[in-house]
Amino acid sequence: MLHEIAPRSGAAFTLDLGQRLTVIDPKGEQVADLLAFNRHDVGEAISSGRTLDYASRIYLTTGDPLYSNRSNIMLDIVEDEVGRHDFLLTPCSKDTFRIIYGEEEPHRGCFGNLAAALAPYGVTEDMIPTAFNVFMNVPIDGKTGALWVEPPLSKAGDKIIFEARMDLIIGLTACSALQSNNGSFKPIHWQID
Ligand SMILES: [Zn+2]
Repeated sequence: MLHEIAPRSGAAFTLDLGQRLTVIDPKGEQVADLLAFNRHDVGEAISSGRTLDYASRIYLTTGDPLYSNRSNIMLDIVEDEVGRHDFLLTPCSKDTFRIIYGEEEPHRGCFGNLAAALAPYGVTEDMIPTAFNVFMNVPIDGKTGALWVEPPLSKAGDKIIFEARMDLIIGLTACSALQSNNGSFKPIHWQID
């Protein structure tokens, strides 16, 4: 069954060991922040630092595992039609919009959307780590380390598929940051098989 996350919102749901999660960009150039927590102990969460350390790369794609803070594999990327995702930047938040965009009444962003969706599972704001930012395009200058945000490379209908390596709680958004989504807010589709 295909689910839709409305623009600038988020969802949380369970994913069983062995199930596959497909994340689809229905209109193109839209980011989806993805979080994963061990369903039986939410102190175990997806870890950018450990994953990038073990991959020795910052751009992940088909065949790459996503590790937890306890160095267990939570998800494998089993199919990827885009090949560019970000695992460096934190979920956009009201502070992102205040500090980077100068907004006085900022939206709660992916961070607020994730916190609200994950609260029923016992996940609090301080437990939210760096998300795997599906379709987010963050190039790096290899010499200076400078990084910046460019439009996603995803086209309408492009998808990425993850397979769960443990029972999980997943948080997923349709990202709320203008820069990350080439200036417009679009939905995200997902399904479990
Ligand atoms: Zn966002």
